[in-house]
Formats: sequence, C-alpha cells, structure tokens
Amino acid sequence: MKRAFCYDWHSSHKFQLMQKIDLHSHSTISDGSYTPSELVSYAAGQGVTVMALTDHDDTGGLEEARQAAEVHGIRLINGVEISVSWKGRTIHIVGLNVDPAYPPMAAGLEAIRAGRLIRAEAMSVELEKVGIPGSLDGARQYAKERIISRTHFARFLVANGHAKDVKAVFKHFLVKGKPGYVSHNWAGMNEAIGWIRESGGIAVLAHPGRYDIGKTTLHALFADFKAAGGEAVEVVSGSHTPDQYKQFAEFARQYDLLASSGSDYHGPTHNYFDMGRLPPLPEVCKPVWERFGIE
Ligand code: AMP
Ligand code: MN
Ligand code: MN
Ligand code: MN
Repeated sequence: MKRAFCYDWHSSHKFQLMQKIDLHSHSTISDGSYTPSELVSYAAGQGVTVMALTDHDDTGGLEEARQAAEVHGIRLINGVEISVSWKGRTIHIVGLNVDPAYPPMAAGLEAIRAGRLIRAEAMSVELEKVGIPGSLDGARQYAKERIISRTHFARFLVANGHAKDVKAVFKHFLVKGKPGYVSHNWAGMNEAIGWIRESGGIAVLAHPGRYDIGKTTLHALFADFKAAGGEAVEVVSGSHTPDQYKQFAEFARQYDLLASSGSDYHGPTHNYFDMGRLPPLPEVCKPVWERFGIE
C-alpha cells in the first residue's frame, strides 16, 4: 500500500501527520470527467490523503472509489451532493459519511435522477426553439452513467461551436433568462438533510458563495439549513474567493456549524480548483473531519 503523507516538523507533536483533505469531487457517475477509480488515483497523485466523492444525486461510484482508495492508501469518505430547491432557488447540500444503502435516500436520489431526465427533455425542446436541434442525444453522448446534467449539455454546445467553452455556455445558455433554461423542482431541504442524517451522515451546505443571493437571503438560508439539521458549511471551496473563506468562516462561527473544505473538482477541463491545492481552513474553524476521527 502506497502512502503519501507529509510531516510537520515544527509542530509540538513530534511527527504530526499533515493530512491533505478534499471533501468535494465529481466523477463520470455525475458530471466529472474521470471515472471513480481514475479520480481517486489522480487525488492520490496530488498528495490527497482524505477525500470524499460527492457526485450529484448519485452514490453509484462509491464502491469503485472505495476499492481504488484501498489500493492507493487514501481514506475515502462516502459522499453525495444533493440538488435541493429552497425558496425557488437551487442549492446544493453535500452529505458526508452517508450510507448509500439507506433505502429512503436511495429512493430519493433515484427520483431526482428521473426528474433530471424530464428536465433534460424540456431543455432540448427549449434549445430547439433557438435553432439547436438534437441536444438531448448530444448531451447523452457525454453522460456516461445515470445522471444527465447541464454540464453534459454544455459539452455538447461547445463541441458544436455554440460557445467557446463550458464557462461561456453558462453565460449564454442554460441559465435563467437564456436559451435552454428550464426551472426545476429538486428535493426539499428538510427531505435531503433527513436522508443524510438518518443514513448516519453529516449535511454540509455546499459553496454558499455561489448562490448569488443578497445578505438577508443568505442569512435566511443558513438559518433554515441549521434548523433542518444541517451541521457544516463549505468554508474553503474551489468556487470561493479568499474573501469568501473569511466570510463563511464567520457564518460558520455565527451559526455554530462545522467547516468543510473541498475543491469541487470535475476534471482537467473544468475551471474549478485542482485537487490537493486548497489552502487550509481559517484558524477559527472547527473542521468537519474531526467527526470522522481525522485530526
Ligand atoms: P445541473 O445540476 O444539471 O443543473 O448542473 C449543474 C452543474 O453545472 C454544476 O454542478 C457545475 O458542474 C456546472 N456549472 C454550473 N455553472 C457553471 C459555470 N459557470 N461554469 C462551469 N460549470 C458550471
Ligand atoms: Mn457539477
Ligand atoms: Mn455544487
Ligand atoms: Mn459539486
């Protein structure tokens, strides 16, 4: 078994283990570009020692990831990123240390995946209206498993010359007010947090800096998340700026939430952070991984 730990010689502990922790990542099970085992192998190569695979609305990659993690000597936390509708907006809730076999969660995720297919059909109708035919079949070519997402439509649109890259797609298509956008009803917040908690997991509010909502609404979101049983928030995230690390460290303190850290890595062609390159959590934070016995 290969181990890739590094040691902090200046610590008061003689040989303190410096873990490299990344608790948010995607594989081909949802919209990432590496298979679960490729992703784990990539993470290990980046020096990551603890990782969570958190595919959108699907835990189908966890078994393969677990086997790969064993080979590479890294600790895998079972994860999922659940799509939730809250006050008419889409937010993401990461479940860490979930039991993928918990029947209500498995059934709930299956229902979300069925909803994704219905939404995809509606998206292709919308794109057809602006002169882009065949996008459902096109997106399907990029969707390798059970999930069809806007990312797969984005890859199709780029490949067909409608946008220069995936990032540009999310400016000109598939978002509110632009061609191909379809509003959708995801899981409820209480429902999603219930599945996570009842299956033994911890609910983490994913990348709060990405929701493009004002301060008042942000506080309402944190209050509702906490009241529903949410226990942690992503403070350091591939989609946060350094100022947002500070901002959400303060939210974590104010709402008494544990802090998480994750790149939201989707593969080499995405604009998110690379794995194993995240800065440490701000000092004031209580790391969520202490709940998994990791210091
Ligand atoms: P969906 O869950 O199908 O609505 O798709 C959401 C996914 O689209 C996210 O998980 C991201 O992977 C991707 N996405 C959303 N906004 C952007 C963006 N601005 N640039 C790149 N990818 C994006
Ligand atoms: Mn994604
Ligand atoms: Mn997300
Ligand atoms: Mn994600």
